[in-house]
Amino acid sequence: MTITQLEWYSSRHQERVSDLLINTTDQPFWETRSLQEMSREEWESLCDGCGRCCLEKLEDETSGEVYFTNIACRLLDTDDCCCCNYPERTREVPDCMVLSPDHLDDINWLPKSCAYRRIKEGRGLAPWHHLVSGSCTTVHEAGISVRGKTISAQGIGIEEYENHVVDWIE
Ligand code: SF4
Ligand code: SF4
Repeated sequence: MTITQLEWYSSRHQERVSDLLINTTDQPFWETRSLQEMSREEWESLCDGCGRCCLEKLEDETSGEVYFTNIACRLLDTDDCCCCNYPERTREVPDCMVLSPDHLDDINWLPKSCAYRRIKEGRGLAPWHHLVSGSCTTVHEAGISVRGKTISAQGIGIEEYENHVVDWIE
């Protein structure tokens, strides 16, 4: 397998859940509006805070297949699984990709569990998603987040990344 380092991509920063919870008497916005129709707040609130997309990835140059490693972006808070400097992330990590509805179709590596991918594929939000459960801790309790599963990139050469590919992200 010929591999190259795949550039950093962004995750959504997990906003305060109190700001995100829907009015449970209403039909949830993710069931009534397309990704393109959502407000910025709604869009941002979809991120489940798993941190999976903030792991280093490798791409097979031949097949284009993407492999996740357990190596975390230096800005990832590996306990909370949020970006430590979300507002300025693209300045600090220039290759961090800002997700938007317009280019979601161009990204082939978002985890199957990712809320954006789930909504795009018509699978809805998972029971552990904070907008469904009402708690930011359920993504960790369900074992979806990267909490406790990552290592720092410090001291690890790119040539070693292949040794850190994980099989717990589909
Ligand atoms: S800069 Fe922040 S959002 Fe971007 S990959 Fe790193 S931790 Fe994730
Ligand atoms: S994989 Fe998706 S849901 Fe998880 S942190 Fe990244 S953007 Fe958010």
